Amino acid sequence: MKWETVIGLEVHAELSTKSKIFCACSTSYGGQPNTHVCPVCAGMPGVLPKLNRSVVEYAIRLGLALNCTITRDCKFDRKNYFYPDLPKAYQVSQLYAPICRDGHLEIETEGKKKAIRIREIHMEEDAGKLVHDARASYMDFNRCGVPLLEIVSQPDFQSGGEVLAYLEKLRETLLYLEVCDCKMQEGSIRADINLSLRKEGEELGVRTETKNMNSFKAIARAIEYEIERQTDILEDGGKIVQETRRWDDDKGESYGMRSKENAQDYRYFPEPDLLPMHIDDAWLESVKANLPELAWQKRERYVCDLGIAESSAVVLTVHKNISALFETLSQKSGNSLEAANLITGEIMRLMNNSNILPEDLSIDAEKLAVLIALVTGGKINRGAYKETIEAVFTSNVDPEKYIAEKGLMMVNDDKVVVEAIQSVLSDNMDSVTEFRAGKEKVFGFLMGQVMKKLGGKGNPDMVKKTLTSMLEK
Ligand SMILES: [Zn+2]
Repeated sequence: MKWETVIGLEVHAELSTKSKIFCACSTSYGGQPNTHVCPVCAGMPGVLPKLNRSVVEYAIRLGLALNCTITRDCKFDRKNYFYPDLPKAYQVSQLYAPICRDGHLEIETEGKKKAIRIREIHMEEDAGKLVHDARASYMDFNRCGVPLLEIVSQPDFQSGGEVLAYLEKLRETLLYLEVCDCKMQEGSIRADINLSLRKEGEELGVRTETKNMNSFKAIARAIEYEIERQTDILEDGGKIVQETRRWDDDKGESYGMRSKENAQDYRYFPEPDLLPMHIDDAWLESVKANLPELAWQKRERYVCDLGIAESSAVVLTVHKNISALFETLSQKSGNSLEAANLITGEIMRLMNNSNILPEDLSIDAEKLAVLIALVTGGKINRGAYKETIEAVFTSNVDPEKYIAEKGLMMVNDDKVVVEAIQSVLSDNMDSVTEFRAGKEKVFGFLMGQVMKKLGGKGNPDMVKKTLTSMLEK
């Protein structure tokens, strides 16, 4: 009996606006508990919310990038529930007229492309945080009122692999749009999984929702676990209970938290304290005109216009900091291929070795461009090139000064090269005889000896040419 997996995703992205959605409190992460709080976000009686225009703009940006229709007249609704981290006992959210609808995001898994439909994106406010110790529970309202976008997909995923491909692409889209910093460990992007099984061609089965995964890896594990759990129940003739489950990454399992609520359980109603808003043409057009080039668009351009290999293009767009460095370096050096090789090779290696994340990379593209000119112009060899890149990376040295001080300039002087070859040949007459008798392999050995004599600074092309002609004499 073959079960088909059906997965839908709800992704919450915390927006990187400076202030909260309905007040001027800071959204910055951390801080002493209850220091980023005012009467509005603490839900004091009698206060009124004032909508942060940037939140709407960020939502439109994401909606356009995900091919959504923008709802020109949209409004907020109240979602009522009681929980200690929610001082107002309701969350301002959107149910009836979410800001973005009917979009899609194309993913690729195992070489196959697939469009995942986005049902809607809505704006809402985050809740606070509960901190428990042995004696008591404490409330921290710093996160209360931080703006969120909830991105709801259709149940279009059939495997964990598809979910991860989607999350990766959504993550890079959010980052390139500069709407969310996507730090999973700080909870700025969270995903809930809705999963059910059905027999091929049958109606959708009963689904569960799994929450509380704090890494992409945990999401993949939670999906695998839930598929297995539901399969076991169904194969034993049991029934799946509609519920919300909490993932425990240490134990590698989830457990039921509560039965899953339906929308009517929340008694949604239109938010009376906020006016409906109208997004006019001028506003929409200005957001559209200012959309940055996205990672996948960059990849396409690097491959098609610059002739960069697909695999390198993926590395170059892993973070916008890296693609920005690549583009500056390409432009300054006038050599995109060398720029791509330098970044995907040496720079990535050095970053890995010193545990530097792409967002923290800072290196002078001007200095790297100088090095590209020196190596492609035959002034330094590849060994000296690598050594100087590392010196620029770790100590921000001036490349030309460094090369002069270390004596790394390539020997391009005919006389010096001819002398070195003469000395090597007279020291290795046996090899010369062997070569002249047709044993061509000896060439590499002689070449190596000459380079050694030149202290590794010989110009390989020139040494090769001179050595060949001297051996043929
Ligand atoms: Zn506030």
